[in-house]
Formats: sequence, C-alpha cells, structure tokens
Amino acid sequence: MLKIENLTKRFGGLAAVSNVSVDFEAGKINAIIGPNGAGKSTFFNLVAGAIAPTEGRIQFQGMDITGMACDRIARLGIARTFQSTMLFEESTVLDNLIVGHRLRTQSRLWDVLINSKRLRDEEKKCRARAEDVLDFVGLSHIGHRLTADISQEEKKRVAFALALATDPELVLLDEPAGGINPEETIKLAALIRKMVDHGVTVCLIEHKMDMIMSLAHKIMVLDHGEKIAEGTPDQIKQNPVVIEAYLGS
Ligand code: ADP
Ligand code: MG
Repeated sequence: MLKIENLTKRFGGLAAVSNVSVDFEAGKINAIIGPNGAGKSTFFNLVAGAIAPTEGRIQFQGMDITGMACDRIARLGIARTFQSTMLFEESTVLDNLIVGHRLRTQSRLWDVLINSKRLRDEEKKCRARAEDVLDFVGLSHIGHRLTADISQEEKKRVAFALALATDPELVLLDEPAGGINPEETIKLAALIRKMVDHGVTVCLIEHKMDMIMSLAHKIMVLDHGEKIAEGTPDQIKQNPVVIEAYLGS
C-alpha cells in the first residue's frame, strides 16, 4: 500500500528523517514509535505531501507520489489527523465536518459564483457524508452541539470523522490518544480497529505503549530520524536496540 525508499528530509543541517525505507501493508495497523523529535510527524508530513523530501521515493498503491501536492495526495486516498485537533470551536460538530469535507473536495470557483445545481448537489452529498461518518465514530447524538462544548475524547472522534469524510484508503493518525484518559484510550483503540475492519489501512504514531502493542500489526521505531528497528509488537518488545534507545529510558 505504502512503499517508502531511502526517504530523507533535512532541515538545514538537521536530518529529521534519515534514509528510511519501509513497506506498510494494506488492511493493517502500522505503527511508528520513537522518542520526541525522532522524526515521526515529519514522516507523516512527507507522506501527506505537506513537505517535499530532500531525497527518496514514496509510492502509494503502486503510484509514485513523491513531491506531489497535498490536495492531490488527499484525493488519491490518503487522509490524516494532527497531533492537536484543528477544529472550529465556535461551529457545531456537524458544520465542522461539512466545511472540512468541502475544503478537501474543493468546489470549483465557477460553481460557487453561479450557485450551480452541481454545487447544490455537492452540498447535499457533503452533508449526507458528514452524517454518515459522525454515525460511524459514534457521535450522531452530538452533531448539533458546539465543538467548544464537547469533551477532548469526542474532539478526537470528530477529527477521525473528518479524516474519514473523504473516504480514504489510508489514514495517518498522529498521536490520537494524546491528552485523554486510559478508559477513553481503550474506546479510541476500538474505533481504530473498527476503521480497519471497514477496509481502511491505518498508520499510527503513538506514545501509549499499551495501545500500540495491542493494536499494531507492525511497528517501525525511529530514533534521531533513523529507522532503528521494525517488526511485530513481540519482536519490538524484545529488541535490545529498541530497549536501549527507547523502551528502557
Ligand atoms: P516527532 O514527531 O517524532 O516528535 P518531528 O518530526 O516533529 O518529531 O521533529 C523531528 C525533528 O525535526 C525535530 O528536531 C524538529 O525540531 C525538527 N523539525 C520538524 N519540523 C521542522 C521544520 N518545519 N523546520 C525545522 N525543523 C523541523
Ligand atoms: Mg510528533
């Protein structure tokens, strides 16, 4: 599904991602772990096309997407969530999803100007899709509430819904369980499993080891931008290099 070859991103003298090669399989939960500053979010930014690599190649479903613009990559089927949820707090949950979906699907200016039938049909589709994904993440009952008034865990679910609205093949989740309690983390993990059960491939960055070890099919460990290990949760737990660089600290 995602094939990364010799990926490098330098910021000035710093190699945030350094010569990383990895394959992520379709239909699986692929995790990325590593200490702060290891290059995890930069890796996602590269895959999503937010920044261009210094070197290396990114292939998605057999297509070379290296250096492609992020909106084009999004349309090809890669969606993401961010470390901090970026929602319009003063809008309702449903409006966040409708606006978010519209921004991602981008109506043509001409249609907006003449208020075409095509645009009205698109709006209807956006709303229907927003209602569907809200139902999928278990939040139908709070669609009309102000986003500022919902819980942190509910905001995380809205961010998932936003990512799912474009019907992606691959979803990149950047520390989705940050700032929520253990009980909520278990519920969020169940939602990630549900996404995979519905055919979405997941790539997950997370610090919460219990969650990673119970969810991931495969884990890649980054340290100072380099891949220091890769394997199943059991292999990673027993890997001396990982224990020394990360788990043991
Ligand atoms: P992680 O998500 O693993 O905590 P990041 O990918 O955010 O790590 O950052 C990796 C390194 O790259 C850090 O040293 C960070 O300061 C640096 N970095 C990230 N983005 C930029 C940027 N846009 N410009 C300069 N340095 C950056
Ligand atoms: Mg990060």
